[in-house]
Amino acid sequence: MKKQIKTTGIVIRKCDFGEADRIVTVLTDDYGKIDLLAKGARRLKSKFCGRLELFNEIDLSGSAGRELHYLDEADLIKAYPEEKNVGRHRILFYLAELTNRLIPSGQQAEGAYPLLQETLYHLQKTDRLETILHAYLIKLLTFTGFLSPWNKCGICDASLNLDDPICLHATDGHLLCPDCQSPADRPLSVPLIKWVNFMQQYPLPDTLRVSVKEEDSQSVWIWLQSILENLLSSPLKSEAFLKA
Ligand SMILES: [Zn+2]
Repeated sequence: MKKQIKTTGIVIRKCDFGEADRIVTVLTDDYGKIDLLAKGARRLKSKFCGRLELFNEIDLSGSAGRELHYLDEADLIKAYPEEKNVGRHRILFYLAELTNRLIPSGQQAEGAYPLLQETLYHLQKTDRLETILHAYLIKLLTFTGFLSPWNKCGICDASLNLDDPICLHATDGHLLCPDCQSPADRPLSVPLIKWVNFMQQYPLPDTLRVSVKEEDSQSVWIWLQSILENLLSSPLKSEAFLKA
């Protein structure tokens, strides 16, 4: 008998398959990121009609396949309202693509699902679009293990003393204590270290209450871009769109 799947998730990708089917990628609470085949989803009278749109939160049930699972039922919990703000729209697509690229199919990244849920909720309410984007990326990179906690040295694990010169590892997202630094590593300012560490540790609503200097925000973005460039084999399609 096939193993049954039953969980809650958010649709982060959809693509057409065959004549009338659709494959949806869903970030779920119980199984991490999964790909599901929704048979006949593109037919007019499909039971999935309107339920598998991007950023919809759904209750789903189906059966497990080897790589691709089969979707039997999908009940809509919450649809992301139609977004008219161009800035938010761009961020949404960037978040979806990045989440899809950073979490391999069939893998769980603890905390990623509630983070996406919370981010979608706050994105509709805040004007701090840059902060919400940076906080999401930093938290997701931390949950997926690509970023080590910024209160410790990424090599010897010693707690960092911010009175010492602290460097960023030349290629990874690790901070380095004076004993572990090499000349290729770049020194970082204390406000930047504190701000990134704050975004790693504190809930999203707290980060949206902190005011940040424009220069620190810009430095975070430049640094995030270089980390993602090292991590991803090809650029994100939505990145050009984000800059437009
Ligand atoms: Zn060290």
